[in-house]
Amino acid sequence: MGLRVGFVGAGQMAEALCRGFDAAGVAKCVDMTIIDRNQPRRDLFASWGCKIGASNEEVVKNVDVVFISVKPYAVADLLREMAPFLGPNVLVVSIAAGVTLATMEDAAGAGVPIMRVMPNTPCLVGCLAGAMSKGTSCTPEHVDTTARLLGAVGKCHEVPESKMDAVTGVSGSGPAYIYQVIEAMADGGVLAGLPRAVAQDLAARTVMGAAKMVLETGKHPGELKDAVTSPGGTTIAAVHHLEKCGVRAAFQGAVKAAADRAHELS
Ligand code: NAD
Repeated sequence: MGLRVGFVGAGQMAEALCRGFDAAGVAKCVDMTIIDRNQPRRDLFASWGCKIGASNEEVVKNVDVVFISVKPYAVADLLREMAPFLGPNVLVVSIAAGVTLATMEDAAGAGVPIMRVMPNTPCLVGCLAGAMSKGTSCTPEHVDTTARLLGAVGKCHEVPESKMDAVTGVSGSGPAYIYQVIEAMADGGVLAGLPRAVAQDLAARTVMGAAKMVLETGKHPGELKDAVTSPGGTTIAAVHHLEKCGVRAAFQGAVKAAADRAHELS
C-alpha cells in the first residue's frame, strides 16, 4: 500500500510534490489529504481526488507523512498550533527554506519526528535536486520514507543540517544561474545569426543533454569536456574564451555568495 500523505499549504511546491508522488505511484492522490486557505487551491487538489481536510488536526489524523508547505515565516506558528495533535506516529516534512530543525522541534514539541528538506523548483517538472536533514526524533525509517517520496520527483541527498546553506548555494538557488547561462547562450546564437526561438531551444537542450551525460555516464565533467575539444578546433577556442573571462571563479563565487546569504537569513 502507498503512503498516506498530507499537505498543510497546497501551493506551487505542494502541487509539484503531489503530482510527482501520484505519477510515480509512491503515494496516490486518493490517499492524500490537504488543507489550504485558498478555495481555488482546494478545488484544484480535489479535482485530482485528494481529500480536503476541514482542520489541520483532520489532516494529521488521516496521514503517515505531513508536508509543511507554507511560506517560511508561517512555519513556527503553524507547528505551535499543530503541536497538540502531533506525535511520534506522523512524520513531519518541512520544505520551508531557512527554517531550522531546532526552531521546528521547539514549536512542535518533544518526540515529533521532523525532516527538513531543501527542494528546488525543477521539482515542478520531476527533476528535483535537493537535500534533507533529519531531526533528533527521526529514525532511519523516517529518512528512508522521505528519500522514497522525494526520489519520486528527483533526487534528495541526506546531509547534516550544517550543510544546508551550501545546498542552497548549489541546487536551491542554482536553477537561476543556469537560466542566465541559457539566456546568454541564446543571445550568442542570435548574435551569430540564429532565430531567437531556435537559439533558445538549442541552448536549453544542450544544458539538459550535458547534465544527463554527467549523470548517466558517471564520468568526470572534465573528461567529458576533453572528449569534445579537438586540437585547434571550435570548442577549445570557446573554452579558452570562457577561461579568460573567469567562468569557473564566477560560478564558484556565485555558489558561495548564495550560501553566505542563506546563512545570514537563517
Ligand atoms: P505558495 O505561496 O505557492 O504556497 C503556500 C500555500 O500555503 C498557499 O496556497 C497558501 O494559501 C497556503 N497557506 C498559507 N498559510 C496557510 C495555513 N496556515 N494553512 C493552510 N494553508 C496555508 O508557496 P510555495 O512556492 O509552494 O512555497 C512553499 C514552501 O516551499 C515555502 O516554505 C518555500 O520556502 C518552500 N520552497 C519553495 C521553493 C519555490 O521556488 N517555490 C523552493 C524551495 C523551497
